[in-house]
Amino acid sequence: MEKTFRLGGIHPQDNKLTSEAPVEIFPILPKVYISMAQSLGAPATPVVTKGEKVKVGQVIGKPSAFISGFVHASVSGTVTDVVPMADLAGRKVMHVVIDVEGDEWLPEIDRSKTVIRAIKASREEIIEKIKNAGVVGLGGAGFPTWIKLSPPPGKKAEFLIINGSECEPYVTADDRSMREQPEEIFIGGEIMLKALGIAKGFVGIEDNKKAAIAKMKESAKHYPHFEVVVLKRKYPEGGEKQIINAITGRRVPSLGLPIDTGCVVQNVGTALAVYDAVQKNKPLVESVITVTGKCIAQQRNFVMRVGTSFAQILDAIGGLPVEAAKFISGGPMMGKAVANVNASVLKGTSAFLLLTEKETKREPESACIRCSKCVQVCPMGLEPYLLYKLSKNGRGIAELERNDIQDCIECGCCLYSCPAHIPLLDVIRIGKSTALKDIKSRAAKK
Ligand code: SF4
Ligand code: SF4
Repeated sequence: MEKTFRLGGIHPQDNKLTSEAPVEIFPILPKVYISMAQSLGAPATPVVTKGEKVKVGQVIGKPSAFISGFVHASVSGTVTDVVPMADLAGRKVMHVVIDVEGDEWLPEIDRSKTVIRAIKASREEIIEKIKNAGVVGLGGAGFPTWIKLSPPPGKKAEFLIINGSECEPYVTADDRSMREQPEEIFIGGEIMLKALGIAKGFVGIEDNKKAAIAKMKESAKHYPHFEVVVLKRKYPEGGEKQIINAITGRRVPSLGLPIDTGCVVQNVGTALAVYDAVQKNKPLVESVITVTGKCIAQQRNFVMRVGTSFAQILDAIGGLPVEAAKFISGGPMMGKAVANVNASVLKGTSAFLLLTEKETKREPESACIRCSKCVQVCPMGLEPYLLYKLSKNGRGIAELERNDIQDCIECGCCLYSCPAHIPLLDVIRIGKSTALKDIKSRAAKK
């Protein structure tokens, strides 16, 4: 029987319009705009200057803090600017702009399709290679992968979970990767097991991906450290805390981390990036991205160079469809609205989704009817109507924290289910950010 997490969850239409679309290579366009803010933490510091020639894979940004990461040229050509530009939310972030000339890669990068199975690198070499390749979590948060694979003193990993649930509607990048590159994903998984010094891994896949499950199960016969676990289709099955609970039955404590349960969770795309970094010396310069939406004539999956702008994607799919009302980077539940179409694809971008006005229209808000649906669907066991009220009334941080607002994973299940169309998440997010600032400042004073 399929496994699932214990509390809450919803079943939005999955709209996986691109599940049968193989991954294609997106054309390299004349210019790329590479953001220095590719990971959680501090943006990288640019290390190239205007006029400099670069090759694919060359370092163009170095980490500026412990939680930060290397950024590499995703194309070859001439750096034409190093300049602050607006990101998808409109915030100014340093970018390196490169005019494309040919497609010349650093010679040490192995671009062949040959699958390299033997893992020769030591644990230390693996961590170094992953760090130098700028690999970050591709499941959304963009946390530097080498840090996740280096548990702090006193914490010990027991299990690696490769997250292939891809529970966000519309997105099919991981589904296609599992069907097309199962071996590379398992080798990436084996590399991470070696880095963690453990021998047990799981791959969790939702049951709406039958072909991916079959491919991964077939391939798993050669990778006995791994077990493929079929998960029930239920959003947010792919949340770190939810997939840990579904597979191991363990619960991440409030304000805790997956490692507190002995688990390290890495996304399918991250496993591929780890394989590339360690076996092929290939930095993270491209990612699989789903280009989708009911108003697009041809929905497709592409492997796309980091720094391709959303405006360039629109051009490539034949321009802006007249019905399109909203652009989203990622899926409709947890993706980010694109306020600036000139913003560019990041390492962690999983999808470019266009929604119509009908799909985005919010019904008028009415009074709470105390139906408790929001409580029933909350996967974190919170009381969203109460958190909403407390956040809205500005009722003291202590009360928000007592009601565990800091544990909200911003999944949107409450908002999706509320028959009164109350903007629960929009308001809870504000309360959560105030509470987290308070918790961090108290921790800093200790
Ligand atoms: S957004 Fe937060 S409060 Fe709402 S259902 Fe998700 S975890 Fe619960
Ligand atoms: S789901 Fe909406 S209407 Fe029902 S209790 Fe929650 S906030 Fe009130």
